Amino acid sequence: MNPRSRKMKLLAMLPRRWVLTNAGRRSRALYLTFDDGPHPAHTPLLLDLLAEYGAKASFFVVGSRVEDYPVLAQRIVDEGHLLGNHSYSHPQFAHLRLPEQVAEAQRTDEVLASFDGHRRHLFRPPRGHVSARMLWYFARHRIPLALWSYDSLDYARPDVDAIVAMAHRHPSRAGDLILMHDDDSLSLAWLRAMLPVWKARGFSFEALPFNA
Ligand SMILES: [Zn+2]
Repeated sequence: MNPRSRKMKLLAMLPRRWVLTNAGRRSRALYLTFDDGPHPAHTPLLLDLLAEYGAKASFFVVGSRVEDYPVLAQRIVDEGHLLGNHSYSHPQFAHLRLPEQVAEAQRTDEVLASFDGHRRHLFRPPRGHVSARMLWYFARHRIPLALWSYDSLDYARPDVDAIVAMAHRHPSRAGDLILMHDDDSLSLAWLRAMLPVWKARGFSFEALPFNA
């Protein structure tokens, strides 16, 4: 297991205004990001834990799930976190044509605008699927694709001890975008273990900066 994939290292070579994999090393911030929510059982507990640490994060939500749980989307915004766009129905992007991919993103932008007032949002394609055409489209519309530099591997679903041990073997670095998922309890257990470690190392926890 390694949290830093070859694909993300390659994408990190592109300009940051096109593809965001890390936020730069200038501050001591880590950028916690959660995909696939909001989830009625797990998202509230995560928000409670983040509040305990005064931590801000970014939630790449699925538009249809926001429609199912609007109270949770509102809570994410009210507590100072960023809403990011993770498509409307979380389809296999590799199987869609560009206009279908764009429609998924636009529909969710409209849903999210009613919570945060922003017209556009950072976009994270399902499964981190990136194609040249998609890259060109979003770059032209000045919407960075927000991927990650550090994968918690929480979706691989080994036990939490295994991913905590991996995180100790491969420490996070300033500016890392850390990928987690809030549709399962594993990220909560992992964060409970990691937040005190990161805090002791002097990291702060910030939402990604993007307002459009
Ligand atoms: Zn996803």
